[in-house]
Amino acid sequence: MKGATFQGVEKVSVVDVAKPSIHGADEVLIKVTLSAVCGSDLHAYHGRIPMAAGELLGHEFVGVVEEAGSGVKRFKPGDRVVASFYIACGHCTLCRKGWFNECENLATFGFGRVLGGLGGGQAEYIVVPMADQSMEPIPAGMTDEQAIFVGDILATGMFAAERAEIKPGDAVAVVGAGPVGLMATMCAQLFGPAHVFAIDMVDSRLEIAQELGGTPINSSRVNAIEAVEDQTGGIGADSSIEAVGVPSSIDTAMRCVRGGGTISMVGVPSELNGDFPYYMFWEKSLTFRCGRCNVQRYMRPLLDLIAAGRLHPEKIISHRMKLDDAEEAYRMFAAREATKIVLTP
Ligand SMILES: [Zn+2]
Ligand SMILES: [Zn+2]
Repeated sequence: MKGATFQGVEKVSVVDVAKPSIHGADEVLIKVTLSAVCGSDLHAYHGRIPMAAGELLGHEFVGVVEEAGSGVKRFKPGDRVVASFYIACGHCTLCRKGWFNECENLATFGFGRVLGGLGGGQAEYIVVPMADQSMEPIPAGMTDEQAIFVGDILATGMFAAERAEIKPGDAVAVVGAGPVGLMATMCAQLFGPAHVFAIDMVDSRLEIAQELGGTPINSSRVNAIEAVEDQTGGIGADSSIEAVGVPSSIDTAMRCVRGGGTISMVGVPSELNGDFPYYMFWEKSLTFRCGRCNVQRYMRPLLDLIAAGRLHPEKIISHRMKLDDAEEAYRMFAAREATKIVLTP
């Protein structure tokens, strides 16, 4: 089969690799019908996640079950499914407490042996272990493009918005209008805020944020913290969502909220450590939340919200390309020439 593989820093090639097959009773073989290139894939592309040459890429995918192991209860051949970007066992202590993102058996698709040794979804086929806990059926009538993001970026946007504790009438600042920030801009509105400010330095991204209900603030031209204060009677946002992960955007997210507010960070941190403003957090009674999304908890309700017409995640897709063109797709995405790219095998 064909698959997009890591071949070295900033080198992706589509090559012929062995078609995977199921070994465990809890596994399913998926014929992939659509995959996407994600900001997290760039960590591998740029060499920040050390992958070996030839390992398969991709963790956002949907497809059709081709074969199911004897222990799989929820899926059978022919079912259309969307998978979480990671697998969780469902039976360890933290899974049983509902924290699937902290599963002790967690492994991530598309990052080679370093993140669990699973296959990649930017390919014609992929095996999903722990399938009953890691996938959801796609409702009839829903397109692949509508469903694909519930396995990663839409779930992350919802996780971020829920943990921002948005109340009706609130002002929310979303720092970063990349794919995750755009999803958060969409999800924040489910909680009834009066304002969702979208902060970014790229006008084309801010235009999409505006289409999705955000009030754009271009932080390359204005001081974002002052702009939020100006539009909130001088006090700042009730909560902020951080969707980038670099120190400057984390700092903006911390400093644009009012006393008693909440900062919800989902951007993957670019640094292991940094200065944390303890005194400001004490002085302003702030709450800081962060983490990798608990995808398994959100997939089902998000599919229901999409089916009900309350969420339109497919609106952020800017480019539809063939899997064969994955090399060019990575180049374009890394160069910020595309908001979101999907690939068909
Ligand atoms: Zn992703
Ligand atoms: Zn577990």
